[in-house]
Amino acid sequence: MRTGTSPGGVAAPYRGRFAPSPTGPLHTGSLVAALASWLDARAHQGRWLIRMEDLDTPRCVPGAADAILATLSGFGLESDEPVMYQSARHAAYSTALRQLDAAHRCYRCTCSRGESPGTYTGHCRDLNLQTPDAAWRLRLAADATIHFHDAIQGDCNASAAALGDPIIFRRDHLAAYQLAVVMDDAAQDITHVVRGADLLDSTAWQIAIATALSLPIPRYAHVPLVTEPGGAKLAKSRRSLPLHGRNIPAVLVEVLSLLQQRPLNELTTAPVRDILDWAVENWRPDRLAGIRVIPLPS
Ligand SMILES: [Zn+2]
Repeated sequence: MRTGTSPGGVAAPYRGRFAPSPTGPLHTGSLVAALASWLDARAHQGRWLIRMEDLDTPRCVPGAADAILATLSGFGLESDEPVMYQSARHAAYSTALRQLDAAHRCYRCTCSRGESPGTYTGHCRDLNLQTPDAAWRLRLAADATIHFHDAIQGDCNASAAALGDPIIFRRDHLAAYQLAVVMDDAAQDITHVVRGADLLDSTAWQIAIATALSLPIPRYAHVPLVTEPGGAKLAKSRRSLPLHGRNIPAVLVEVLSLLQQRPLNELTTAPVRDILDWAVENWRPDRLAGIRVIPLPS
């Protein structure tokens, strides 16, 4: 992965991030994404930030944010700057909505989820609705195709027709995830987004939103999702990652194995700091090229 370049051609310093939702304890799948983003930042002498995606307050579990930070810290992963909380950023998201509305780049939509399964076909696009109780969608150019190069998954393309206009503000007046993540990455000057492949499909939407707001587009790398041995979604019982009673070095080595980094056996008894140093020095994201899922060993 190369370092991002600014419009002037000068290499921007690498800034990466990990953005968990405080809806429960950190699990193995999240630790894989956290460690990959941390390793990629450190391998580029970059900074690494943590952001709490606690926008959807009803889904947030009290104490989960602090528990996640404590777990990450136990694995030697700490934010280089104060942790950003989405719940403190409503004003910034509202400003972005007003900006897009003033530029006629978005519109109100009253379709309920049940009425519009699958790709949104643009039912409300030209209705000029004024209903206060409505969601907002970004208007994509009808014939647009969004291209991006993912450092792990390769070249990706998505047509506006296949994407559908993304929701940027929800009917309950909360910013939608797609808008919040774009605004936050820009506010934190993120140059490199390394995250789970479950977010690969929404990347094109985020690029479209960033473009509409004249914000820089970070470089992307989507690491494989951890699944059950048979490929099924990771079961809740396997998801939890309790710190107590678990051997942290062994878990770190396990996660490095999942990331195809071929950690040395002797690392399982090494101090956390030594494991991380080894992992930064030997970071080979190319070993994940094109891999979308990694099943846990049975
Ligand atoms: Zn609609």
